[in-house]
Amino acid sequence: MSSLESKIPSGPLAEKWTKHKNDIDLVNPANKRNIDVIVVGTGLAGGAAAATLAELGYNVKTFCYQDSPRRAHSIAAQGGINASKNYQGDGDSDYRLFYDTVKGGDYRSREANVYRLAEVSGNIIDQCVAQGVPFAREYGGLLDNRSFGGVLVSRTFYAKGQTGQQLLLGAYSAMNRQINRGKIKSYTRHEMLDLVLIDGKARGIIARDLVTGEIERHAGHAVVLATGGYGNVFFLSTNAMGSNVTAAWRAHRRGAYFANPCYTQIHPTCIPVSGDHQSKLTLMSESLRNDGRIWVPKRLEDAQAIREGKLKPTELTEDERDYYLERRYPAFGNLVPRDVASRAAKERCDAGFGVNKTGEAVYLDFAAAIQRYGKEKALTSGVKDPDKVTLTQLGEEVIEAKYGNLFQMYEKIVDENPYKTPMMIYPAVHYTMGGLWVDYNLQTTIKGCYCAGEANFSDHGANRLGASALMQGLADGYFVLPYTIGDYLSDDIRTGPISTDSPEFEATEKEVLERINKFMNTNGTHSVDYYHKKLGKIMWNKCGMSRNAEDLKSAIDEIAELRKDFWENVNIPGEEGQFNQELEKAGRVADFLELGELFAKDALQRNESCGGHFREEYQTPEGEALRDDENFKYAAAWEFKGAPSEAVMHIEELVFENIELKTRSYK
Ligand SMILES: Cc1cc2nc3c(=O)[nH]c(=O)nc-3n(C[C@H](O)[C@H](O)[C@H](O)COP(=O)(O)OP(=O)(O)OC[C@H]3O[C@@H](n4cnc5c(N)ncnc54)[C@H](O)[C@@H]3O)c2cc1C
Repeated sequence: MSSLESKIPSGPLAEKWTKHKNDIDLVNPANKRNIDVIVVGTGLAGGAAAATLAELGYNVKTFCYQDSPRRAHSIAAQGGINASKNYQGDGDSDYRLFYDTVKGGDYRSREANVYRLAEVSGNIIDQCVAQGVPFAREYGGLLDNRSFGGVLVSRTFYAKGQTGQQLLLGAYSAMNRQINRGKIKSYTRHEMLDLVLIDGKARGIIARDLVTGEIERHAGHAVVLATGGYGNVFFLSTNAMGSNVTAAWRAHRRGAYFANPCYTQIHPTCIPVSGDHQSKLTLMSESLRNDGRIWVPKRLEDAQAIREGKLKPTELTEDERDYYLERRYPAFGNLVPRDVASRAAKERCDAGFGVNKTGEAVYLDFAAAIQRYGKEKALTSGVKDPDKVTLTQLGEEVIEAKYGNLFQMYEKIVDENPYKTPMMIYPAVHYTMGGLWVDYNLQTTIKGCYCAGEANFSDHGANRLGASALMQGLADGYFVLPYTIGDYLSDDIRTGPISTDSPEFEATEKEVLERINKFMNTNGTHSVDYYHKKLGKIMWNKCGMSRNAEDLKSAIDEIAELRKDFWENVNIPGEEGQFNQELEKAGRVADFLELGELFAKDALQRNESCGGHFREEYQTPEGEALRDDENFKYAAAWEFKGAPSEAVMHIEELVFENIELKTRSYK
């Protein structure tokens, strides 16, 4: 075990980034034309990075497995993006955004990175507005804000319930400008299957053309991985079906340390699981918690009657409802952070108060908001003495304007009208705070291999606050990486083009082909999904919302066993040299089967509870997470040594000089 050097610049917190930008080496415009950068992933982080690097003059090659960068998982983001603009005049500042994020992450993130994130957050909004992103506006034309969990200000900018889509269109337009200029060469439907190292430096990738099945070599002076999160290790999650860990995991196997794999975010407001044949879960945006109130019946017999279909939620009076978040956390109420809200929902359901057939659902109710908005709308539109029906209609119109597409989505999936009866929600896997370890410059432990967006271990510590993933991805892509990578590339101005005709490319390509051959020739009996579902069940039951040492130990054994079985008995139909989605899935699930074991191993070594990592052995009498700052105030970064069981842990000790370590409280 060794300590990692995070390369945080010296000086006062608020001056570090400016100082660093002034200190690091630059590449002059003429030399940038001689430097090639590979960007794998064109979601918000990769798209922003690629467009900016090309705008600066580098030659960029981008890769994504979808048919267009526009289809990256980032498109799914609904609720919004944070920035400390203080447009509401409610006391926001860079420091407050920094403070909220570090506290929200349960004091397990790197101070200097988080402060930088807050510092550039305002620039992101300006940049996106300049691109034409249609953020919601107030009546007077100024950009509107709403609130997300874990904060006491309104700093979330949004575009209805489609913020990710609109931001991605902005980044994609910026990319397209460069594609048109010939500065970006975009490879869609291409999957990176390995990283090529020459003399210890990342110099290229091996990719598969997913349409023709052809294996290709691509070289560059640096490689940026912006390949998203690994929540699908749980099989069921709110992530896009294709989201995977392969690019990051392949880099990990080549020497990039993987940090805090066990830090997973379970989002409290998702549509509950409906059955065994489901392959995806749907998020109901956290923005709904601005107006929706979460509750379960106060009495067990009422919960049971509801489950049996003998009682409707609308028949219960206010007195008969337990608004448990408002009761337990009066200061933050329904807007406590996600980990806190998820655990509270689980606690109520485990105690027998769940409201759907499986007993794993709570209500998210808009009735009070509809009445409140109805009254306001009646006043502002001059409707005198409105009756209840008119008030309800006016209120529903306001709710529709704010969240219409989310309500429509809910109704389509559940077949119930959420304007008339409360939504049913339950926590689901949503985001992964762990990822490739990066230093302050976003460089992994492999020289020349950078990592941005959800794929890195990021700025969110043990729990991410809502609307901060888009902020981090775009901060990394537009404002951080384009500077820091120049410092590294300034050594490469005389290197000249990197040839793909080298023994290193040859050897890596051979390994990729051997792996594919192994998949195609196993001729086993079980589908890839069979293994993925089994892995997901182990992960959810033993490494999910709450964990304990005994379960984690058995998860490690079970996953290792499942992996062995996979390699002996998986069946992949079709051919290798053609479009073959089962083959694509096989590679991804094989990597999940390794990651899953490391995940459990990481959760087992962390003998404390923090943020989304809740170890049952370490909790307060009220059931809150109990940190151990004396022994676990570090990021755990794992080095690959041939198998997850052999992985060696290195640590980055987290230093808190600008924020006082406290027990996190939202009361
Ligand atoms: C339903 C939902 C709603 C959300 N809402 C919000 C929100 O309101 N606010 C917020 O801040 N966050 C939100 N998030 C989180 C946020 O959307 C993501 O964290 C963020 O978009 C990730 O962006 P990214 O660029 O890092 O990765 P992604 O958008 O996942 O992009 C990954 C890219 O990598 C490519 N890729 C992956 N592997 C390979 C490979 N091996 N080879 C080639 N290409 C590869 C993909 O093709 C894709 O282009 C939400 C998440 C979900 C699931």
